[in-house]
Amino acid sequence: METILFLAHTEADGTLAKAALEALGSAIDLSKQLGGTLAVGLYGASVETAAHALGTCGAQRYLGVSGEDFSQARYATDAAACEALVRASAATIVIAAGTSRNARVMAGVAHRVNGNVDTHVSSIEAGCNATAITRWFYRQRIEGSLSRSQRPWILLLDPGTHAAWQGEAGSITIEQVAVTVPETLRRTTVRGVVTPPTDQQTIRPDAQLLFVAGAGWTKKQKDGQTHVAEAETLIVDFLKRSNASLGSSKSLVELTGENQTALRFMTHLNQVGQTGASPRHPKGLSTCCHGEEPHTVGWRFISERRAINLDPNCGWARGKADVLYVADAFEVIGKLNALLSSQAAS
Ligand SMILES: Cc1cc2nc3c(=O)[nH]c(=O)nc-3n(C[C@H](O)[C@H](O)[C@H](O)COP(=O)(O)OP(=O)(O)OC[C@H]3O[C@@H](n4cnc5c(N)ncnc54)[C@H](O)[C@@H]3O)c2cc1C
Repeated sequence: METILFLAHTEADGTLAKAALEALGSAIDLSKQLGGTLAVGLYGASVETAAHALGTCGAQRYLGVSGEDFSQARYATDAAACEALVRASAATIVIAAGTSRNARVMAGVAHRVNGNVDTHVSSIEAGCNATAITRWFYRQRIEGSLSRSQRPWILLLDPGTHAAWQGEAGSITIEQVAVTVPETLRRTTVRGVVTPPTDQQTIRPDAQLLFVAGAGWTKKQKDGQTHVAEAETLIVDFLKRSNASLGSSKSLVELTGENQTALRFMTHLNQVGQTGASPRHPKGLSTCCHGEEPHTVGWRFISERRAINLDPNCGWARGKADVLYVADAFEVIGKLNALLSSQAAS
């Protein structure tokens, strides 16, 4: 019988992040399908609040590694805590969220416990013969299904691929797992986190809307002139007001790389498409982008698609968008910003 460990670190406020609750949802489903044992393993400065919040999730055991040493996202202490929780739970399958913090340590943890690790997992099912996972390969172009016999098997579930667990808090007993932290493990100290201001963080995986800008924003407009500064203002304004995530066509990000006049906040990380990302958002709005196949293939996880293009024969018109507005994006986004601004004021 499999023992499934849901493994997570607590946040600074002692709670669990949404991605962790999604991994828990998947761990609960799997343990029900397999009739296996479910254990919760938490680590962080304090684990009490988070553990009690999961009190009705159906886990048989709640294990914790806590203390100031585990408050930081530091490889040495994260790996030591995870290793101790995997060993103490005698887990055969470990499910954790596929976040950068977890991804950094889990290969090392798998090695220490003589196990195996798979990343970018998109689903975990108890198959007829063996537990199987699906995961994407080659930038989400190929979906593979695989299972392994080696245990423990550590799985990092990609955020957004399973519903987050929701339930009542409950009273539980936490088994504290002792982890000795020698001075050598404390050599690295996190002195702070440096991030761009929030209005420059244009990639927002949790956003309701993906806003894509294409190279048309930098092209000559009907007056025969380019209007790149105006385009920047309109786009930044729209992102601030709508909290949308910013995507780009390949052509536009490459203009930036080639030092041509382009949108300054655009990087290759924004590129959507065959050689870019395939983000997941409920809605998408494409502007000044032609909608060619290598770009729109990156829209496969966008449920409702709209596009604004001057060209009624652009790619979006050929079954790629649900709605195509044949219009000038400068005018439409300007009007949209005015509407959003008056809505915010009222
Ligand atoms: C191997 C390979 C991989 C590729 N991978 C990718 C990829 O990952 N992602 C990607 O995006 N592309 C990719 N491409 C490139 C892709 O084929 C297109 O060249 C690219 O998407 C075009 O970008 P665009 O639509 O922004 O620019 P353009 O083709 O220049 O289109 C600009 C559009 O803006 C419109 N426009 C201009 N002004 C306005 C206005 N005022 N209002 C409304 N509309 C306006 C025009 O009508 C035009 O349709 C790849 C190509 C190859 C060969």
